[in-house]
Amino acid sequence: MQSKLKKVIHPPEFLGILGGGQLGRFFTIAAQKMGYSVVVFDPDKQSPAGEIAEKHICKPYNDLKALDELKASCSAVTTEFENVPAETLKYLEKDIIVRPSSKAISIAQNRIKEKDFLKKCGIPVGPYVVIDSIESINNIDEKLSIFPGILKIAEFGYDGKGQIHVKNKTELEAAFKTFNSVPCTLEQKLNLDCEFSVVLARSVDGEEIVYPTFWNSHKSGILETSSIGPLRTESLIASLNRRFIPSTRTIARELNYIGVMAVEWFLVNDGYWVNEIAPRPHNSGHLSIDACVYNQFDQQVLALTGNDLKQPEVEFPKSVMLNILGDLWFRDGAQKEPKFEMIAGLGVKLHLYGKAEPRIGRKMGHVTILGLREESHEDVLDRCESISKILWEN
Ligand code: ADP
Ligand code: MG
Repeated sequence: MQSKLKKVIHPPEFLGILGGGQLGRFFTIAAQKMGYSVVVFDPDKQSPAGEIAEKHICKPYNDLKALDELKASCSAVTTEFENVPAETLKYLEKDIIVRPSSKAISIAQNRIKEKDFLKKCGIPVGPYVVIDSIESINNIDEKLSIFPGILKIAEFGYDGKGQIHVKNKTELEAAFKTFNSVPCTLEQKLNLDCEFSVVLARSVDGEEIVYPTFWNSHKSGILETSSIGPLRTESLIASLNRRFIPSTRTIARELNYIGVMAVEWFLVNDGYWVNEIAPRPHNSGHLSIDACVYNQFDQQVLALTGNDLKQPEVEFPKSVMLNILGDLWFRDGAQKEPKFEMIAGLGVKLHLYGKAEPRIGRKMGHVTILGLREESHEDVLDRCESISKILWEN
């Protein structure tokens, strides 16, 4: 086991990552490029990161013996998702470096704690109430106009899972029972003008770097496309610099955050709210892999190892990312492979995550469309649309 006080971790030491999905896989690639070795901890045998890492511990997150093995194998641990039990992180934190801390993750992994924390920081959140009993449903103040709303389980939701839209108290009660009466938030369903994320990295020394804003569009609660580009009005850009980016920095500082973090923002008319904090690299930040010199996973490795961060250096300031979901494998009712060769010559970058089994709603890969110098941002968005069409129509 390594000393907790050790400042900078040098290659070829082992770094640990909890969770072996695509985010873990991109972390592993970034770490290995810098000369580190990686141990992935994920209970799934078929893990995209586990397949390429030097070592894969394939055990449940609460298996203490396996966690001891992880501690013995590496100098520092990070996580690819917020649904790792906070207890697991606390157990690791006793002996090795864990970044971000279990405390930061325990806040971001629970919607109730997260909203309390944001309010304490003076950061606006949308109208919501906590639902943790039938009584809390009966007590909802009709004046709040919380309906139509979205009931979200406080913990373990992702990609729109663990959410039910409800129009009234009767539907709310049924939805709460569907979730086995676990603690939830009921959020007013907002008429969103747009959604964006601010991805930030913070180092051991408190140095921060911020990526260009990623503008996101979702379908059925799952991210469909993200883009960077000068598509927005002057006043929105000014708000970004004046409000959203400083607020995102405040969140990171108040959490004593070390690592990469994304804050998802909602814009509604003139109002703006934080939707949620992702205590890890973010799907929208995948654009940084091809559009920037240093991507979000490079920063995750640098922050974890106690190194200085790098400025992102945006090389393609007009770029769009299209998520490839498992749905594409089922485009004619029967399962068939997508024809990725049809987009190969179109100047796009295809990333596949090595997942053997396509499922509806499962993230299988993404495509980056890099804007050329002479193209407008609208041109790049148009190209994204035709790429999607080609994949769906063949
Ligand atoms: P997840 O953890 O699955 O990402 P989110 O809370 O971010 O859950 O919800 C996923 C998406 O659903 C959001 O990005 C947004 O498009 C939509 N959504 C969530 N909450 C609201 C809301 N209160 N009003 C309108 N749309 C919402
Ligand atoms: Mg989200």
